[in-house]
Amino acid sequence: MNFNELNLDTKVLKAISETGYTAPTPIQAEGIPPALEGKDVLGIAQTGTGKTAAFSIPMINRLIKGRARARMPRTLVLAPTRELAAQVAENFETYSKHVKLSMALLIGGVSFKDQDQKIDRGVDVLIATPGRLLDHVERGKLMLSGIEIMVVDEADRMLDMGFIPDIERIFKMTPFTRQTLFFSATMPPEITRLTQEFLSNPTRIEVARASSASNNIAQALVSVSSAKKDGLAKAKRDGLRAILAEESDTVTNAIIFCNRKRDIGILEKSLKKHGFSVGSLHGDLDQSVRMATLDAFRDNKISLLVASDVAARGLDIPDVSHVFNFDVPTHSEDYVHRIGRTGRAGRSGKAFTLASPAEAKYVEQIETMLKEKIPRKDLPGAVEKDPVSDAIEADAGTGTGRSKSRRGSRRKPSADIQDTSAADHQAQSTETENRREQRPQNADPVQPDSPRRHRNARGRDKEDRGPRVKGLGDHMPAFMLIPIPDLSKRTETGDSGIENRDAA
Ligand code: AMP
Repeated sequence: MNFNELNLDTKVLKAISETGYTAPTPIQAEGIPPALEGKDVLGIAQTGTGKTAAFSIPMINRLIKGRARARMPRTLVLAPTRELAAQVAENFETYSKHVKLSMALLIGGVSFKDQDQKIDRGVDVLIATPGRLLDHVERGKLMLSGIEIMVVDEADRMLDMGFIPDIERIFKMTPFTRQTLFFSATMPPEITRLTQEFLSNPTRIEVARASSASNNIAQALVSVSSAKKDGLAKAKRDGLRAILAEESDTVTNAIIFCNRKRDIGILEKSLKKHGFSVGSLHGDLDQSVRMATLDAFRDNKISLLVASDVAARGLDIPDVSHVFNFDVPTHSEDYVHRIGRTGRAGRSGKAFTLASPAEAKYVEQIETMLKEKIPRKDLPGAVEKDPVSDAIEADAGTGTGRSKSRRGSRRKPSADIQDTSAADHQAQSTETENRREQRPQNADPVQPDSPRRHRNARGRDKEDRGPRVKGLGDHMPAFMLIPIPDLSKRTETGDSGIENRDAA
């Protein structure tokens, strides 16, 4: 199929051909015709599939006829993050360059004044994040009663960020007769409920299995461990540089994802110190800094971007050759979104994940979701075998893994337990940071050390803690029940009582 068969206006076709696209992607081929007919569309598609064009092209085609009225936009696109909203706006500019359309971008971190002026003049397309849109409505500056088409992009991301009540409110402010184009990479029950309530007999298009990774991305899992309790981050930084050196012929630019904001700063400094051209991106940075960093990365002024999950979804940065997970994401679906930053629009890409034994449970969850094992790769120059796979095997109760794990425990039982709980603690604070990073102003705030968070932290024990890490399983190993001996009564050989008893 080619774009000429899609019944599009010649001005839109001209803009498409100028972008260099030769054929519609599957989501475009299947989604544009019903959208042009005015039908609701439910698109289950990841970023990188061309979904932005799948909704913006038919919208532009439809907006050619008619005129906008002051304060009453004709169409609305809701995106979860500022960067994604800005990117959607860029797409609209590209495809509508031969059409006279007015557009306004309503995102936080930017003054209301310019946005107000644009709305006052009347806009054909309003692209917004939910929080800022509602701010404008509440200030009485904006009416949604003229909306003809409403797009919800990255709905599952909206759910993660606590935006669903806002989306419901916004839906209810728009006319019942509107056309709705709704996109989500996955369909959790809460999203299904929303589509059942607000979409009318939608054309459902699923272009790739939800939660699947693109085939053009070569993935590798690299085990990193450290004998020193606090040496893991350093070992990962060393490991990352070793892989960057090994891949130096093919790394043109890369995004390196960390779970914690404080690690982003440390890693950025460390890479700079080692002579890399690097920038960072996370939710605590000022909007203007975030935009400037992204522009510098797009323009190849910096080649490495150390980022939180704020960069994982929706951002379209063409030609990213590599993605590195400095930490294993604690939510499996984030893995797909992170590695989806490479291998976009049919190109090939590589994704490396640095995993410590304490992160084995997250690796296992990701592999269960992917329904395949991530290929293992040795750390360049490493002598050590694969402790992450050992930990997964130990958890599954296979003979070899468990016995290896026991050996580890016997040598240093208490340290082992501390490692595991430290990883859990890290995971919890990570979740808190990631959620807080993008939490809308009017969402229910969950502070990291509020009583509610503590209750959740304890409640995790039985519910979503996932498989345990190092062979402790559900039962308490017998040696753990032996009372701690009085260390003052050491044997003459200097061994502690624990080791003597365990050896016996
Ligand atoms: P998206 O899924 O909307 O983030 O789009 C991912 C990338 O695909 C963007 O860089 C688009 O410019 C590109 N793209 C969209 N449609 C096409 C097409 N028909 N042919 C080639 N590339 C496309």
